[in-house]
Amino acid sequence: MLKLLKRIVQEVNAAKDWDKALRIVVQRVKEAIETQACTIYMLDTTSGEYVMMATDGLNAGAVGSIRVAVNQGLVGLVGQREEPINLEDAQSHPNFIYEAVVGEDQFKAFLGVPIIHHRQILGVLVIQQLEQRRFDESEEAFLITLSAQLAGVMAHAKVTNMFSTATSETKSGIPEDLATLGGLPCVPGVGIGTGLMVYPKADIAAVPDRKIDDVDAEIAFFEDALGSTREDIQALSEKLSETLPPEEQALFDAYLSILDRASLGEEVINEIRQHNWAQGALRIVIERHVKNFVQMEDDYLQERATDLKDLGRRVLAHLQEKSKERKQYPKKTILVGDEVSAADLAEAPEGCLVAVVSAKGSSNSHVAILARALGIPTVMAANGQPMASLDGKEVIVDGYYGHVYISPSKKLRKEFTLLAKEEEQLDADLAVLRDLPAKTPDGREIALYVNMGLVLDASVALSVGAAGVGLYRTEVSFMNRESFPVEEEQRVLYGQLLKAFSPRPVIMRTLDIGGDKSLPYFPIEEENPFLGWRGIRVTLDHPEVFLVQLRAMLRAGENLDNLQILLPMISGVSELDHALHFIDRAYNEVCDEGVDIEMPAIGVMIEVPSAVYQIEAIAKRVDFISVGSNDLIQYMLAVDRNNSRVADLYDALHPAVLQALVHIVEGAHRQSKPVSICGEMASDPVAVILLLAMGFDSMSMNARSLLRIKWVVRNFSLSQARKLLHDVMQIENPAMIRLHLEAALDEAGLGGLIRAGKR
Ligand code: PEP
Ligand code: MG
Repeated sequence: MLKLLKRIVQEVNAAKDWDKALRIVVQRVKEAIETQACTIYMLDTTSGEYVMMATDGLNAGAVGSIRVAVNQGLVGLVGQREEPINLEDAQSHPNFIYEAVVGEDQFKAFLGVPIIHHRQILGVLVIQQLEQRRFDESEEAFLITLSAQLAGVMAHAKVTNMFSTATSETKSGIPEDLATLGGLPCVPGVGIGTGLMVYPKADIAAVPDRKIDDVDAEIAFFEDALGSTREDIQALSEKLSETLPPEEQALFDAYLSILDRASLGEEVINEIRQHNWAQGALRIVIERHVKNFVQMEDDYLQERATDLKDLGRRVLAHLQEKSKERKQYPKKTILVGDEVSAADLAEAPEGCLVAVVSAKGSSNSHVAILARALGIPTVMAANGQPMASLDGKEVIVDGYYGHVYISPSKKLRKEFTLLAKEEEQLDADLAVLRDLPAKTPDGREIALYVNMGLVLDASVALSVGAAGVGLYRTEVSFMNRESFPVEEEQRVLYGQLLKAFSPRPVIMRTLDIGGDKSLPYFPIEEENPFLGWRGIRVTLDHPEVFLVQLRAMLRAGENLDNLQILLPMISGVSELDHALHFIDRAYNEVCDEGVDIEMPAIGVMIEVPSAVYQIEAIAKRVDFISVGSNDLIQYMLAVDRNNSRVADLYDALHPAVLQALVHIVEGAHRQSKPVSICGEMASDPVAVILLLAMGFDSMSMNARSLLRIKWVVRNFSLSQARKLLHDVMQIENPAMIRLHLEAALDEAGLGGLIRAGKR
């Protein structure tokens, strides 16, 4: 058997193309086992279906066209269970599907084994026989061993694009391998526009090249910056003239002569004449000289490389300062960068942003959360090309699959323009849901709230008919400032939000800083900030900050009665008791001062695993529970939510996370307390089906997702959702759970929520 296996694998490796290789496998296996049919199905991850790719024994005409959803048929079952299924009579199995075109009606015996590489399912290998019998152990062992060996070959073929397009086309018909960059799909949607590179200031290595037309204007602009740098250095030299010895003073003269128009200046101008902009031209010249200096043996000359870099940074700072006003955002800007920040998004003029592509970060970085709140299609952790290569080019971003296309063909552009139009149409169609309840066809209603803070404009939330604010991240209004806001400032701000939504509830979260959210005037520097001084830990240590905020909230709520208060990062009951004590104190103080307000409902965020296991002790102390799934997932799975390197391990559908959520809902309900979820998971149409089934009473999400989520709720009966929850709780692999749920969304006609276009 070993010899036979070796021979098959060798033949497969030697095959010129993939189709041929697969044909060899099915023929050889059929001969070796002396059976009547052998077939290979490959998983198309884009569409969530198995595609029949080769057969010897079934109808060869069906190859490439027969597709089976991952939750269907015996093939689907093999993939889901990730283990062999060996049946005497396949046709009597409840999962058997009859497809006339496949021609398997006369086959009885069935043995299917999964093809798995590095924990990822690639496909399913099936053998069938006419008579009713069970394949014996040696046949099963042969197939398992062969499939394990084939998995490596197949994975390699996939990487080198040997797969035929039958498995690599998305349902919209757009071949995946045309994409120039691939990354994490973070905000769904299609964006078509022009790339604009953003990069850290005064970092000369990060400057991209950019083509310019008006050479003379660019030279004049550069000379102006050069002049300003000379002035700086002269001023510095004069300032230090009395304290520095003359030999050190000479350094400034050396700097000035390097900056001479005839020296470095002339070289940069020559580069500008090649139609590169001043910043790019400066980078080229500085890098060239630095490289030369660094290669020299002489220590003194090597040091000059540092001087040159410093000079380059100084000139660049002036160029960037002066070009602030000149920064041109294309009408349809696609913001690209190695690390696009939330500030970069905020800086872009209103209405011009159509997509974001960042080489770093992940789906739960605050920049992605902001982009989601603004409805801007986003791909994070994008790789395949340097980001600078997108600058100034026409770019298409597919935020559903994480694909980025540079300088697309006419055909591709037409295809995506159509998909983008269909999306607009889908949003317009969904507007009719605005005033309808988020109620399942069998009568279960769930309240849909919005998250606010990153976006402060209440109008979008109100225009989609939100039931209220489920999470107001107060710390965001603390960020763009130079000191903590005083009580009155906070009262005014909170009052505006409470009024805008009254009588709908507004859940205000107390200051949640630390981790990746720092205040410029209150820096927290730690080795492990996510496991350090964050959220409630900071405010309990600073009662002066906490009490001021609580008092401001309570005073803002006077006469409105729609305020609720939420406590972040609670990891045990003593923290909670301590925080409740401060709330009582602030409440008594403001009442004594004559403020007329009822004690607001108080809630706790469940985002630390320890709180999951103390859910009942926590729930009995407060009025409601809200799950912060963004943090809960990172702490449960030990995956930093901002780290793109481990981003594929961050999965809301991880079975452990699902079990924790069920535990939270059950615990809170046992204490008769309502439970909500306000992390990004509530904006994920696939996850929402499960949240509904688990019994969450409300969900809070970004305003852009609300109508889409309402569409899901209105199209899934509670009993259907419960059946799906029951099914996925048996699956051990998050990727399979997602495919299973996506297939269910597709079946319900909601495919438009998981890929570009309307369906
Ligand atoms: C969460 O952790 O799920 C949450 C909503 O809070 P944030 O994203 O602000 O940490
Ligand atoms: Mg959180």
